[in-house]
Amino acid sequence: MDVTVVGAGPVGLVLAAELALSGAAVQILERLAEPSEAMKAGAINVPTAEALDRRGLLRAAEQVQREMLERVGSFARTADDQPPGGGRRAPGSRFTGHFAGMVLDADLVDWSDPDLAAHTAVDGGRLVPQRELEDLLAGHVARLGIPVCRGVEVTSLEDTGDGVLIGTTAGPVRTGWLVGCDGGRSAVRRLAGIDFPGTDPELTGHLAVADIADPSILADGWVWSTRGAYRYGPQPGRVVTVEFDGPPADRSAPVTLEEVQTSLRRVSGTDVTLTALRGAATRWTDNARQAATYWSGRVLLAGDAAHVHSPFGGQGLNLGVGDAMNLGWKLGAVVAGWAPEGLLDTYDTERRPLGAWVLDWTRAQIGVMRGDAKSAALREVVADLLSTREGATYAVKKISGVTQRVDLPGDHPLIGRHVPDLRLRDGSRLVDHGHGGGFLLLDRTPDGTFARSAAAWAGRVSSVTDGHATPTGVLVRPDGVVAWASDTTGLAAITGLEAALHRWTGAPTSSPEHEAVEPVEPVG
Ligand SMILES: Cc1cc2nc3c(=O)[nH]c(=O)nc-3n(C[C@H](O)[C@H](O)[C@H](O)COP(=O)(O)OP(=O)(O)OC[C@H]3O[C@@H](n4cnc5c(N)ncnc54)[C@H](O)[C@@H]3O)c2cc1C
Repeated sequence: MDVTVVGAGPVGLVLAAELALSGAAVQILERLAEPSEAMKAGAINVPTAEALDRRGLLRAAEQVQREMLERVGSFARTADDQPPGGGRRAPGSRFTGHFAGMVLDADLVDWSDPDLAAHTAVDGGRLVPQRELEDLLAGHVARLGIPVCRGVEVTSLEDTGDGVLIGTTAGPVRTGWLVGCDGGRSAVRRLAGIDFPGTDPELTGHLAVADIADPSILADGWVWSTRGAYRYGPQPGRVVTVEFDGPPADRSAPVTLEEVQTSLRRVSGTDVTLTALRGAATRWTDNARQAATYWSGRVLLAGDAAHVHSPFGGQGLNLGVGDAMNLGWKLGAVVAGWAPEGLLDTYDTERRPLGAWVLDWTRAQIGVMRGDAKSAALREVVADLLSTREGATYAVKKISGVTQRVDLPGDHPLIGRHVPDLRLRDGSRLVDHGHGGGFLLLDRTPDGTFARSAAAWAGRVSSVTDGHATPTGVLVRPDGVVAWASDTTGLAAITGLEAALHRWTGAPTSSPEHEAVEPVEPVG
C-alpha cells in the first residue's frame, strides 16, 4: 500500500480521494465500526464548497442544503429576524456565519466586494451538516474503489525510513506513508512524538438537539449571562451552551441528557426541561493547539490531528478539508515519483500559517464571550462594528475563506489565491474541466501558445483553450490554488509558465514544442 490514512472523518475521506485521483494506492483505517452520529459542523465555507465543486460533488451538497433550509426555515419563520446578536435569520437568506454568536447580516454585506464577487458559484458558503457531508464523501471514496477498513484501531507505529510498520487491533500493516487524520486526540501524532503546543481550555460547551417540554421559556438567538451563553435554534430543539467554568473533568464520558439540561438551566437561568436527546450530543472546549510540524519522516498529519480549537465561527472542518486538498496531490506526486524537490515541505509551510490564523480567530471570539463586565463591554463594541457595512463585509470575507492566500512567487494578483469561478465561451466553467484531479491550464492566447508549452507535461497538466481574453493564462493546481497567471502572451509569460510548471509538476515528460527556456522564478 502506498499510503494509509488513519481516520474516516471528513478530512481522511477527502485526503484518500485526492490520493487515489493522483494514482496512489490508498486505504483508510477507522476504529469505529459505523460512522459517528455525534453532532458537529453545520456548515462549509467557500474553499470547501469549491473543493466539492472541483470534484463534481457540489450539486449533491446543495441538495443537502435545501433539505437543511427546509428544517431551519420552518423554525425561523416563527421568529423575527434579528442579527447581529440574535440567532435567527429568514429562510433563503445568504449564509453568512457569525462571530462569537453575533450573526452577520447578509443585507449589510457588500457582495460586490471583489473577493466575494469572484466566488459567485458558492455564494458565501453552504449549510451542510458534517454527518451528511461525510455520507457524501464516503460515496465518492467508494466510487473511487478505496478500501475503508472499519473497526481497526491504530495502536503503534514504527517509521522504518522507507515506510511505516503500523500496529493495529487487526494485526500489523505495512505502508509507504502514513497520514494521521485521526482527530484532535490523534494517536498518530502522539505515536510519532509530534508536540502539540497551544493554549489551555477555559470553557465547556455543549451542542445537542433535544425534545424540550417548554421551549417558549428559552429566548431566541444567542443570550449571554455572567455564567456564559446559550443559543436556541436555528432548528427546532437545537441548543448550544457555553460555560466559562473550565474544561470538563472527563472529556471521554458520554454526554447525558442531565448534563445538557443542567448546563442549559445554569446559563439560561430558567428551569427548562429536556425530555429526550435526539442523536448524540457533543461536548467541546476551547483547547487551542497546533502540531509543531505537520510532517515527520514517513508520517504526516491533517485536520484536527494537526490543529484543534473551539468550534466558534465554524472553521475546523473547513481547515482540515483544505489540508487534505493541499496534501493529496503533493503526496501523490511523491508516490508517483515526479514530485519536484521540496514539494512536500510546502504542505507544512502553506498550511501552518492558515492554521495559526484560525486558532487566533477562535481565541478572539472567546475574548468577547466571557461573562465578565470588560468582555461584555468589548462585545458591544464588536457588535457595533459588525453592524456596519465594512465590519460585516470584513467578517464575512474572513469566515467564508475567500481571502485565503498562499504566499507564492509571482506578481499577478491571482497567484496564490483560489481560482475564481471562470466562465468559458463554450458555456462551461473552468471547474467543470477538473473533476479528475491534476493541473489545469487555461489558455486564452489566440494561437494556443501556453498549451503548447504545457504539452511537455502531458499526463500531469490538462489544457483548456478559451479564445482570446484576459487573463491570458492561468495554471491551477489540483487544490484550486493558482500557481501562475498572466495578462500577456510574450516570452516573459511563457518563461513564467514554464518556471511554474517545473516548480510544481517536476521535469517535463517530453520536450516543450518550442525552444526551451531555463527555469526561473515565475513572473506574472
Ligand atoms: C460542536 C462542534 C461544532 C462544530 N462546528 C463546525 C463548523 O460549523 N464548521 C467547521 O468547519 N467545523 C466545525 N467543527 C469542527 C469539525 O467537526 C472538526 O474540525 C472535524 O470533525 C475534523 O475532521 P477530522 O476528519 O480531522 O477529524 P474527526 O472528524 O475527529 O475524524 C477522526 C476519525 O479518526 C478516527 N480515529 C481516531 N483515532 C483512531 C485510531 N487510533 N485508529 C483508527 N481511527 C481512529 C475517529 O474514529 C474518527 O472517525 C465543529 C466541532 C464541534 C465539536
